[in-house]
Amino acid sequence: MIQKPRPFQRRLGTNRAHLRILQTTDLHAHIFPFDYYNDVAVDHSGLARTATLIATGREEVANSILLDNGDFLQGSALGDYIAYDRGLKQGDLHPVIGAMNRLGYDAATLGNHEFNFGVPFLMASIARANFPVISANALLKRGATPREDQRLLPPYLILDRRIRDTAGVLRRIRIGVIGLLPPQFVTWDESKLWGRIESRDIVETAAALIPEMKAAGTDIIVALAHTGIGASQHVDGMENAALPLARLDGIDVLVAGHTHKVFPSAQFSNGPEIDLKAGTIAGKPAVMAGFCGSHLGVIDLLLEQEGTSWNIVASQSEARPIAALDPTGHRAPLVVSDTAVLKATQHDHDATLDYMRSPVGATRRRLCSYFSLVTNCHSVQMICRAQSQFIRQSLTDPEHAGLPLLSAAAPFKAGGWAGVENYTDIPVGPLFQRSVADLYCFPNTISALRLRGSDIAEWLERSAMIFNHLTIGASDQLLLNDAVPSYGFDVIMGLTYEIDPTQPPRYSLSGRLLNPEAHRIRNLCHNGKPLDPEAEFIVATNNFRASTQMRLVHSPDARLVFEAPTTIRNILLNFITQHGTIDPEIEPNWSLTVPPDTSYLLKSSPLGQHHLCGVNDLSLEPLTEVQEGFMHYRVTARFRP
Ligand code: MN
Ligand code: MG
Repeated sequence: MIQKPRPFQRRLGTNRAHLRILQTTDLHAHIFPFDYYNDVAVDHSGLARTATLIATGREEVANSILLDNGDFLQGSALGDYIAYDRGLKQGDLHPVIGAMNRLGYDAATLGNHEFNFGVPFLMASIARANFPVISANALLKRGATPREDQRLLPPYLILDRRIRDTAGVLRRIRIGVIGLLPPQFVTWDESKLWGRIESRDIVETAAALIPEMKAAGTDIIVALAHTGIGASQHVDGMENAALPLARLDGIDVLVAGHTHKVFPSAQFSNGPEIDLKAGTIAGKPAVMAGFCGSHLGVIDLLLEQEGTSWNIVASQSEARPIAALDPTGHRAPLVVSDTAVLKATQHDHDATLDYMRSPVGATRRRLCSYFSLVTNCHSVQMICRAQSQFIRQSLTDPEHAGLPLLSAAAPFKAGGWAGVENYTDIPVGPLFQRSVADLYCFPNTISALRLRGSDIAEWLERSAMIFNHLTIGASDQLLLNDAVPSYGFDVIMGLTYEIDPTQPPRYSLSGRLLNPEAHRIRNLCHNGKPLDPEAEFIVATNNFRASTQMRLVHSPDARLVFEAPTTIRNILLNFITQHGTIDPEIEPNWSLTVPPDTSYLLKSSPLGQHHLCGVNDLSLEPLTEVQEGFMHYRVTARFRP
């Protein structure tokens, strides 16, 4: 690794010092550089590799602090194994915390996913952390004002440190760090948090606490905010609040995350408030270090002391990657893994591997998700079937049991920002625990809603936002709106319908009705007859979608009729073990409208070209490879004789 020159070398002078802030974010329980779903070592993730960058980043400078932005407990087979299979008793050391303890973090904050396994699990995990964990807007009880909120954890901390100035003299600095996360986390984990945990807007919370932090004598304030770079305009409760947060007087540095993006990088463009060269947002030094340890965030601050307080006179941000993409689309590692971090996790890594390698059944069909956003997909349909079976057996209340049962699920692994590795591809043959985890990678639990046909039609319209607005008769138009994650694309089985992307989207990304006249969902039928908007249905879904849908539906009698702490992964596991060998048929469910003389471009993995034979309703033609290892497929209508 090339040693970077010390920043600000020529600018150091009397009363000046250099402070470096190092950041990890969205680690998602990725410690070992290992893909448990596919049982292979990988080069592009894992805190063990980031740890080597942390060591170098510290050696290069006299003064540094290390912060983590949250979403550290959930998101890998290791994290799920600890939460569901091995369990965590009071006093046990969570392997992620064990690995983080090795690295000497100065502070960490909570992300939304910290709540996925419930509050007792979270508190037992962080009880063993040797670093402080803060969160200003994870609340036990919301007060009349933010100052009166009762919190789960301390809202901020003040690091009272001695830093070495240019002349080598130690000087006192007080660095305030405030922890924040999207208030939506309460809704997203409603089944576990309802009545126990509340939240408050990010910007409102920070604004209320800054004066208190100033009064306590902080020289600079760092917002350690598990939030992404979204709209500039502040809206109460916004999820990605980096811009309005950075604009607040009193916030000096922004350490962001949550969206799994990299800042500064080409994923963002320069704008009135974003300076990619300096790495600032609204003029404030900022950084965002990708996900799963892919990058280390580095902010260099040149500080100057005036009287007893410090000011930032210059800054430079960068995100240092652990791996680089070579011309063939393969990610090659830039650093080796830190052996101390590997050693700290080895035992639990091995236990996870043993568990993930245990056989659970077999499949006669390949289960892959390369084309799950353009056509019916085995992996999604199997989740729908397993959910339906579970709800049919569990929802016995005669008030609901007679209603027709539908089932909603989305492709979770369908490329996107998570990269070209983010697909499911399970070959014909044995299935293992790791296959089930691959098919259902989120820790969602089962729910069922009772809805009217009209609500279901709107649900599908919101799903259809994932497609760009395309033109009839035009060629090679980019099909997918990259801003919409694939988990937002629910397919509802039990109905048949077409999705026409040449119609304008009915909803905006935030769920606002954009075009009241527009309908992308065509020929929506139940049992071959047009869906009656007044008819009632039961829809099996997950807890996350159930709570978000219940906030969006219009019918006054829509309700949540079933929820259980059973994970959908377990439901899927039982479904597979009951069958022994599965041989799923594709059920005609939905299709994408492609008018004559019109073509779309789908971005997917080059590996998909070997599995085109399963696609019957469209023609998919592999073209050349495009950026980041992805390939474009030209989508046209299939000629039907
Ligand atoms: Mn995350
Ligand atoms: Mg998050």
